Amino acid sequence: MTGIMQGKRGLIMGVANNHSIAWGISKALAAQGAELAFTYQGEALGKRVRPLAAEVNSDFVVSCDVEDIASVDATFDAIKERWGSFDFLVHAIGFSDKNELKGLYANTTRENFSRTMVISCFSFTEVAKRAAALMNNGGSMLTLTYNGSQRVIPNYNVMGVAKAALEASVRYLAADYGPNDIRVNAISAGPVRTLAGAGISDARAIYSWNQQNSLLRRTATIEDIGGSAVYLLSDWSRGVTGEIHYVDCGYSMTSMPTLERLRR
Ligand code: NAD
Repeated sequence: MTGIMQGKRGLIMGVANNHSIAWGISKALAAQGAELAFTYQGEALGKRVRPLAAEVNSDFVVSCDVEDIASVDATFDAIKERWGSFDFLVHAIGFSDKNELKGLYANTTRENFSRTMVISCFSFTEVAKRAAALMNNGGSMLTLTYNGSQRVIPNYNVMGVAKAALEASVRYLAADYGPNDIRVNAISAGPVRTLAGAGISDARAIYSWNQQNSLLRRTATIEDIGGSAVYLLSDWSRGVTGEIHYVDCGYSMTSMPTLERLRR
């Protein structure tokens, strides 16, 4: 197979099932010739991830829970042992207690605030550091964020705060690793129906609001996000780093609902 990712190897963190954004990215990368490794969180998800990995010709599948730093270290040890060095990283990991993804942000507990920040934000810094140490010929890293970092989205609450910190991390990591020709970017995806997405209260209403009011009058698919990820992980974007790239069908460009909706 030939393609823009031919000869490149990368780690995908965050496939839960075939609806995951990370899976859309994996399919697009594999179609362009990339060689992929996957992590999964817990054996129940491992049973789903292994057959998906096989679909893109990968048997390199490792258990990793970012709350357990030993499993993060073991993941990068496994990469070092099998590949020596590698070229790209996809971090598509987020979590918050769904009981706090509704109602007032002010009711966020200290415990869930900390856990949300560690899993959804700090884990990117921890894996980026380990990945950079194995990117001997430069590289590209990508994480996933959402516009709830910049604007108030109903019920997104503490995840919005974590995503704002994640986006700042992208810029600081891009500064840290720029001299090593390692680029760090994020895709800010529009709402997608995934396991994580379903944890947000009223997710369906938010999804259909975006569908009706984005410039393209639809929401982004995991294939749309995959295409943009290939660009950011490939040499086609070699001059791009520290960027938050929106793949949301233009929703974030709007300042009011579409006029046809108001005229109804
Ligand atoms: P998903 O449920 O398919 O993926 C979330 C992943 O996070 C899962 O694979 C889960 O195992 C992993 N995860 C959670 N806690 C973990 C831990 N402690 N250790 C290791 N992995 C852990 O949902 P998704 O929507 O594809 O989410 C991927 C990323 O995209 C997340 O960062 C999410 O915030 C972001 N995002 C999602 C949307 C959306 O609308 N779905 C929009 C913008 C950004």
